[in-house]
Amino acid sequence: MAATPENSTLETGAAGKSNFIRGIIDAHNASGRFGGRVATRFPPEPNGYLHIGHAKSICINFGTADDYGGTTNLRFDDTNPTKEEQEYIDAIIADVRWLGFDWENLHYASDYFEQLYQWAVQLIRQGVAYVDDLSAEEIRENRGTLTEPGKPSPYRDRSIAENLDLFERMRAGEFANGSRVLRAKIDMSSPNINFRDPVLYRILHEEHPRTGDAWCIYPMYDWAHGQSDSIEGITHSICTLEFEDHRPLYDWFVDQLGIHHPQQIEFARLNLTYTIMSKRKLIKLVKEGHVRGWDDPRMPTLSGLRRRGIPPKAIRDFVDMTGVTKANGVVEIEMLEYAARQELNHSAPRLMAVLRPIKVVLTNYPEDQVEEFEVLINPEQPELGTRIVPFSKVLYIEQDDFMEEPPPKFFRLSPGREVRLRGAYFVRCDEVIKDAAGNITELRCTYDPATRGGDAPDGRKVKSTLHWVSAAHALEAEVRLYERLLTVAGAGEMDEDKDFLDYLNPHSIEIIERAWVEPNAQGAAPETHYQFERIGYFTVDPDSTADKLVFNRTVTLKDDWAKLQKTK
Ligand code: ATP
Ligand code: MG
Repeated sequence: MAATPENSTLETGAAGKSNFIRGIIDAHNASGRFGGRVATRFPPEPNGYLHIGHAKSICINFGTADDYGGTTNLRFDDTNPTKEEQEYIDAIIADVRWLGFDWENLHYASDYFEQLYQWAVQLIRQGVAYVDDLSAEEIRENRGTLTEPGKPSPYRDRSIAENLDLFERMRAGEFANGSRVLRAKIDMSSPNINFRDPVLYRILHEEHPRTGDAWCIYPMYDWAHGQSDSIEGITHSICTLEFEDHRPLYDWFVDQLGIHHPQQIEFARLNLTYTIMSKRKLIKLVKEGHVRGWDDPRMPTLSGLRRRGIPPKAIRDFVDMTGVTKANGVVEIEMLEYAARQELNHSAPRLMAVLRPIKVVLTNYPEDQVEEFEVLINPEQPELGTRIVPFSKVLYIEQDDFMEEPPPKFFRLSPGREVRLRGAYFVRCDEVIKDAAGNITELRCTYDPATRGGDAPDGRKVKSTLHWVSAAHALEAEVRLYERLLTVAGAGEMDEDKDFLDYLNPHSIEIIERAWVEPNAQGAAPETHYQFERIGYFTVDPDSTADKLVFNRTVTLKDDWAKLQKTK
């Protein structure tokens, strides 16, 4: 349903999602500025992979338009051929889809190069643009400061005819890189430095991924962006706060051209603790091999989070939780982990898996007997039914779940003590077997057949329930455990004279080569999520083979975020 001034407030109110952007849209709908239409766009530059910060922008653009019955375009802001690649375009398309959004139209700013050129010619004809022969350096020097006005270029008063001729020859490739630019002629003493004759075009003899060698002049961001919005009929051009000072220029260009005038709206970008979000730095991590690639599960990229096992819904929920504001801040990464846990708790089937095994032999269990225990696939969704877990004489439990000399508060297995093996039996540890070096190799235990299913008919209690796998049935798996990529929460904790690479956590990955998982994981496809009972959420990695599954730990079960909220 299309929003109208009458129903828009009601709609957003009903969705319970009021924020200042929706306030602006509601006001537009009330005044009829865009005829009740809402059209947004997500405009990534294809110079890297999308990260969790982009996810915020995606959710705001698509989410807002959706709620108002509007549309959202995906537009590649591909105006800088030196840094842009087809690989990034493909990855961005896949990531936006994965996040759960579908665009109205897919566009490229490069499709508008001819129109942008014609509009630049129009500005020259209107006497508000000129070709400048100063170098980039000289232009910078002449720009002035916040307290000092800029100096006009000696080329500022060229005739319209000369400007038209020079600009045409710039396009024709007559001049070398950096020798000339086209600038708007606005106000060299404006308090807003963006108004001091901003550059519209630079010469770059460079192959473009889409336009090839058709162009050797390329538009600057400020010149391309608003006009691209206008061409597409965008109503609300939502961007991050650093473009607030560019808004007057955005408005100036569309007004000079007399074309459709979208409203630029700025919000605070997302920053996350322990997370690098600048593409320049992320590229460095990839190119210098500090991580295994853009989709390394330690990366804050959407492809990394996906491989790590964070479901797209968790990312969308997380973005909702962070809200839309005008105030820059830093969000704790624990909040993202919380959102992942919430979603996975609901959706992930359970498995028993033993990461660091210790062998348990049930001395009184018949040699060749195998029993099948039936347990719920996911207690959060009992309607999914049950799974069968085989049980036999030789089992693995977690090394952590046994202590030979337990301290007072350790209630798990120890010599002489009885515990429950989840869904199976009570077992008691009778004897600890060690090798010559004194390492424990085996625990000899007895089970109580009367406790089948996990409860004692005589009502006796045990203080803990352990997970287990049957050694003969379990699948061998590789498990990759991840820690934070950085050793500090943010740039504020980094020495100014150090590089962010000095703060990479040397222990951000730990690989367990031989873990054991319940046979129900057999054949699981990459990206399948599980809860390993009592341990955490794990996701099948694409490195898995038919012989050996590889799992990534997505998050542990421990909710650090709730704890953080309590200590605040
Ligand atoms: P980076 O600084 O990471 O390179 P960018 O802003 O240059 O990011 P773009 O490809 O230009 O990357 O971004 C596309 C859109 O995503 C822009 O509208 C931008 O404002 C938004 N965006 C980028 N980073 C964030 C962030 N951390 N939080 C919210 N929105 C973001
Ligand atoms: Mg950018």
